[in-house]
Amino acid sequence: MKIRVKLLLLFLMLFGALLSAFAVFIYVSTAKSRKDQYYQHLKREAITKANLLFDAKVPPAVLQLIYKNSLNSLFEEEVAVYDTSFNLLYHDAVQIDKVKETKRMIDQITLQKEITFEQGSLQVVGLLYIHNHKTYVITAAANDKYGISRLEEFKYTLIISFIIIISLTIAAGYYFVGKALNPVAEIVDKVEEITATNLYKRVQVKNEKDEIGELALTFNNMLDRLELSFDGQKNFVSNISHELRTPLATIVGELQLALIRERSAEEYKEVIRLSLSDARRLVRLSNGLLDLAKASYDQTTVSMKELRTDELLMDAREAVLKTSEDYRVDIVFEQEIDDDDDISVKGNEYLLKVAFINLMENACKFSPDHQCTVTINSDDSKVKLSFRDSGIGIEQEELSNIFTAFYRGKNKDFSPGNGIGLSLTQKIITMHNGVIGVNSTVGTGSVFTVDLPHV
Ligand code: ADP
Repeated sequence: MKIRVKLLLLFLMLFGALLSAFAVFIYVSTAKSRKDQYYQHLKREAITKANLLFDAKVPPAVLQLIYKNSLNSLFEEEVAVYDTSFNLLYHDAVQIDKVKETKRMIDQITLQKEITFEQGSLQVVGLLYIHNHKTYVITAAANDKYGISRLEEFKYTLIISFIIIISLTIAAGYYFVGKALNPVAEIVDKVEEITATNLYKRVQVKNEKDEIGELALTFNNMLDRLELSFDGQKNFVSNISHELRTPLATIVGELQLALIRERSAEEYKEVIRLSLSDARRLVRLSNGLLDLAKASYDQTTVSMKELRTDELLMDAREAVLKTSEDYRVDIVFEQEIDDDDDISVKGNEYLLKVAFINLMENACKFSPDHQCTVTINSDDSKVKLSFRDSGIGIEQEELSNIFTAFYRGKNKDFSPGNGIGLSLTQKIITMHNGVIGVNSTVGTGSVFTVDLPHV
C-alpha cells in the first residue's frame, strides 16, 4: 500500500473516530436534555391542572371536556389525581388511561415525593400535591412527539454532516498528503534517471531542514561517494593497463629489435638483461596488485593473531636488504620493553610485513644514503612505529596524494616504482584499526608514523 493511502487511512480512522465520538456525545446529551425538559413540562402541566381543580374549583367535567377537545388528545398530557389511599379523584380520560396506575405506584410516589419513568413511548411523572393540609398524588403522562421528531431530525443532520465532513476530509487529505509527498515522487523520478554513465546528476534539495530535504541530501552525499569510488575504479583500471603496457611494450620492442639481425652473444645478453628487468617490474606489479586485493578483503575474513612488531620488523628488514646490497635498515627501541605485550599487536603477519617492507623500501630508495631508521615505541593502548630517512623528501602539497593508488610524486625519477606501495600500506594499517601519517621536508627527509592498537 502506498504511503499516501496509508497516511490518509490512518488520519481518516483517527479523525472519523473522534468525529463520531463527538457526534454521539452531542446526540446523547441533547436527547437527555429533551427528556429532562419534558419531565419538567409534565410536572408543570400536572400542577396547573391540580391548581385548576382544587384552587380554581373548575369542575372535573369541564377539564375533561377541554382534554377531549384538545387538537390531538393522543399526545396531550393526561393527568390523574389520587388520594394517598389509591382512590381516583380525577382523571382526564379514564377510558384512555395511559398510565394504568397501581397501588404500588401510588405508594412509591408517596414515599419518594416525586418519580419519573418511561412506559413504552410515554414519559410519566408522579408527584405529591398538598392542598388544605391534604396530600394528593398526581400523575401526568404524554408522548413528546415534537421533541422526539426534532431529535430525529437532529440525528439525521448529524449523520449527513458527518458524511459531508468525512468526504471533504478525504478530498483535502488526499490533496495535501499528495502535496507533502510530491518531493518524494520527484526524488524517485530523478533517481530513476541516474545510471552509471551519469552519476554526476543530483537530486534537488528544496528544504534542507525537513525530512525529505534530509533524504535528498543523504542521497546526494551517497552519490558523491559513489561517483568518487567509480572514478577511482576507472582510474585504477586505466592505471593498471598503463603500468602493464609499458614494460610489456618495452620487452616486445627489445626482443623484436634483437631479432632484426644477427647479434653478438654480448648483445643478446644485454637484451635478456633488459627484458628480465622489465619482467621483474611486471612481477612486482602483479604481486602488489595481489596484496592490494588481499588488503581490500573484509577484516573478518583475514586471519589475525597476536604478533610481536619487533619480529615483524626484523623479517621485513631481511626482505628489504635482499632487494639491494646498498640498503641499510636500523631498528631502534626507544624505551625499555618490560613485557612482550607492550610491543604486541593483533594482526595478519603477511600483510603487516608487506606494509613494513614498503615503508622501509621507500625510505631506502628515496634517500641517497639508502638508509632507514625504524623506531619502536609503545603506550598502554598502542605500538608506535616510525620509519625515518634523510632522503630527498616530498613536497607539502603532494602529501595528501601519496596514499592514492598509482600516484607517484614529482620525485619519482629518483627511483623506479609503480605507485601502489603506500596505498597498499595505508589499506593494511587501516584494516588493523591503525593510523598512518607522514611528515616530510624536501631535501631533509621523511618520517612515516604508524600507530597500531595492541588488540
Ligand atoms: P612508489 O614508491 O612505487 O612510487 P608509493 O605508493 O610507495 O609508490 O609512493 C608514492 C609516492 O610517494 C612515491 O612515488 C614518492 O613520490 C613518494 N614517497 C613515498 N615514500 C617516500 C619517501 N620515503 N621519501 C620520498 N618520497 C616518498
